[in-house]
Amino acid sequence: MDICKHLSDDMTRPRCAGVQFNDLASLVAGVKSVVYTSVCGREEARILNGLCSDLGLDKLVLADKTNVAGEPVTDLLIGTSIKKMRAGRKAYANVLSLEWGVALDYPECCVRSYISWRKEEDLVRHIRSNSPRGAVFPFWMNNVFNYYSRLSSACEQRDFMAFSGMNRGLERESIIPWHPCSYLCPGTLKKGKRIYEVLEHYMPLGAAARKTALSKPVVFWDKFIFAVLNGSCVKTSGGFAAKYEGLSGPLSLVGPAAAKMLAGTGTLKVSAGGKITHPPGLRLPGNSVFLPFTT
Ligand SMILES: [Zn+2]
Repeated sequence: MDICKHLSDDMTRPRCAGVQFNDLASLVAGVKSVVYTSVCGREEARILNGLCSDLGLDKLVLADKTNVAGEPVTDLLIGTSIKKMRAGRKAYANVLSLEWGVALDYPECCVRSYISWRKEEDLVRHIRSNSPRGAVFPFWMNNVFNYYSRLSSACEQRDFMAFSGMNRGLERESIIPWHPCSYLCPGTLKKGKRIYEVLEHYMPLGAAARKTALSKPVVFWDKFIFAVLNGSCVKTSGGFAAKYEGLSGPLSLVGPAAAKMLAGTGTLKVSAGGKITHPPGLRLPGNSVFLPFTT
């Protein structure tokens, strides 16, 4: 398999925008045998054909569509298991089904949890509430910046455009290409680590940049409202302590009041349940949850 051509730190070579590095790494790691993707236009279709032949992957077309710009877009599955790809094609009519998630090799517990998500609260909060209290989360579980399958209303789509505009040029791809059921889901913990190891092997610079971005503690309010603390956190007897020097990217729609309170150097003490207890004068607006991501 000629993977180095497709999974590398060289960002100048042509690639399909719809084929994520983490998906490719999942195939290489053997964590996934099927990937759902799309190609837009003839040039991308040609690149995808090259990728499939280099990596020995099969391809199964799901649907031909036209995007808002009037360009032809093809939804398809690529992978190493034609049997699972056929199961995926059958389930494609309902992408909220267990069959679809399982055909794409997502852990069944995570698919069930995603299907049970009620969209009144953001998915990150849903996952946080299913996660054990008082434990830190490895960076490869961090899906805070992964908006795939997380946007529903037109309003959220608009906010996403604003968010993307503010963070143009910033790599925001996660390590796990699905949403976990819990930030300590045993299946995802194991699989995510393997995906990261493949990324680290073939694209060390990109993998290191992801690790840096995803291993910082996050004060989270909502989908586009969060503060990434530029620092690290450790477990303490009562919960967590996070040392930081201001905020890190990506920029969010958090607003100046909270951003100002978290500017500069500081240490937050947080209870196991996620309540900020120190410094005593810190009164962050609204109802935030603390996400203790670490290296
Ligand atoms: Zn799970």
